[in-house]
Amino acid sequence: MDYPTIDKPPIEQFRVRPNLDDYAKVRSSFVYADVIKELDGLPGGALNIAYEAIDRHLVHGRGNHLCWDWEGKDGSREQYSYADAARMSNQFANVLGRLGVRKGERVFVFMDRVPELYAAVFGTLKAGCITGPLFSAFGPDAAGDRLADAGACVLVTSSEQRRKVREMRPNLPALQHIIIADHGREDSIEDGEMSWDDLMREASTEYQIVHTSPEDPAVMHYTSGTTGKSKGAVHVHQAVLGHYATGKYVLDLHADDIYWCTADPGWVTGTSYGMFAPHTNGVTSVIYEGGFSASKWYEIIQQHQVSVWYTAPTAIRLLMKAGGDLPKKYDLSSLRYMMSVGEPLNPEAVVWGEKHLGMPFHDNWWQTETGSIMVANYPILPIKPGSMGWPMPGIEAAVVDHEGKPAPAGEEGDLALRPGWPSMFRTYWNNEPMYQSKFANGWYITGDRGRIDDDGYFWFIGRADDVINTAGHLVGPFEVESALIEHPAVAEAGVIGKPDPVAMEVVKAFVTLKDGFEPSDRLRGELLQFSRKKLGAGVAPREIDFIDVLPKTRSGKIMRRLLKARELGLPEGNTDTLEE
Ligand code: AMP
Repeated sequence: MDYPTIDKPPIEQFRVRPNLDDYAKVRSSFVYADVIKELDGLPGGALNIAYEAIDRHLVHGRGNHLCWDWEGKDGSREQYSYADAARMSNQFANVLGRLGVRKGERVFVFMDRVPELYAAVFGTLKAGCITGPLFSAFGPDAAGDRLADAGACVLVTSSEQRRKVREMRPNLPALQHIIIADHGREDSIEDGEMSWDDLMREASTEYQIVHTSPEDPAVMHYTSGTTGKSKGAVHVHQAVLGHYATGKYVLDLHADDIYWCTADPGWVTGTSYGMFAPHTNGVTSVIYEGGFSASKWYEIIQQHQVSVWYTAPTAIRLLMKAGGDLPKKYDLSSLRYMMSVGEPLNPEAVVWGEKHLGMPFHDNWWQTETGSIMVANYPILPIKPGSMGWPMPGIEAAVVDHEGKPAPAGEEGDLALRPGWPSMFRTYWNNEPMYQSKFANGWYITGDRGRIDDDGYFWFIGRADDVINTAGHLVGPFEVESALIEHPAVAEAGVIGKPDPVAMEVVKAFVTLKDGFEPSDRLRGELLQFSRKKLGAGVAPREIDFIDVLPKTRSGKIMRRLLKARELGLPEGNTDTLEE
């Protein structure tokens, strides 16, 4: 189905005037180098993400503004001002100094979303060290591989993770300090561990930030590995220009916003957009320690008065599965703007937002490697449901052929970016050759396939390695998945190419059903017919299997590689990031 374009009202009719009030005008004059004028910088040409995100607001008289509005798994609520965040991160920077940790060393966090995690990340940055957040649900192999690769010398974790930490410890010769932070729920500290609370109690709340240059490494994120083994993308302090500018123009943050990013800091969205973008823009950030529940999530929006909300397609599909009546039970009138990232956002989901939450979800595209949002839908621009929108001002994005030449409008090619934006990764840790291999003909090649339409909208087709070649026809799995979830019985779909002696590959779909629907041959037949009608026989799936859950990464991405390996009885390869 072709979804009509969602138009936007004239700018005077917005509840809050969008920061990006004229896309063409801003885009023509925007240069990333100028963004520093809106930030502070530090003496001697130094730049530090933590200073720009936290301390700067104290200097500008906003120290009492609410920084973290935290809700624990048990419903307890705590509030921390920017001044509190500055003090806590200062203390942790002092702790690192006391432990003899030097600039450039790696300090990792491996814990749930408690305030200590956030204080540790900002304190690490203030001390000039490199922060590396890990998903708390990682098993000992996944967490251990990353810590070993990074040569981390400090691990801030919780006693819940003790068993895993013990298991990986023998393989971590560089790891010198294990700090246990249990957020007031501390049980006893064991041999070889230190207590966060004790260390912090003894640490001064004053700290002189270590001199970090714009090009000093600051953050390491291991890519979520939908395709292969995780690699540690390294970002520098200068990335903060990207966090701030995209926070302003894409997230449309205004100083009094209450903003909720649902991503965990173990994934780049949870740091770039759970910490750096909102805080450089001085807004209040809601942090919910617990996991997904449709009713709880609506309750959080209602109780915390969330105005700007950034989430992911997998969560939106779960909200859709829970039904359009559920949100009616909550007062969601504080919401003014919603965004999605991480996977292609099915057009059906964009429209569902408009119908049931009163506004469309705005899809945007970026990667661990890009460090900040590259292509986006904006408050003022009409949305073509299913499209990722337009390049962020200051970003040259294109769809290119294998020689690096821009493809004509409507034609598929590699989604590519002109290198040089501030938040671009600077290397893969211990793997410079792999980093170099990502660049060709003057472009950074993202590994995604896409097209640009006649109006300049960017469309995602698929990961280059997921695209299916069926009888010479290239099919993006997303297109097929989106068609299937338009059927009322389908909750989610994952699509792969299955080798075929005649067609090279045939399209095969795995679907999960909404509550109240049962798998049957009849339903399978109906879905086959339904998708054929929508997509045509050349693109529609030839086979459909019903499954209970789709394999996904912890950041919510469908792992098509795994569906394929299981279908073909091949080894599953690296499953570090698989959600169990
Ligand atoms: P990661 O580095 O783990 O954040 O994964 C980045 C990849 O997720 C991208 O290269 C895309 O394949 C996918 N992705 C992220 N956002 C979008 C989006 N809005 N539309 C389509 N794919 C997306």
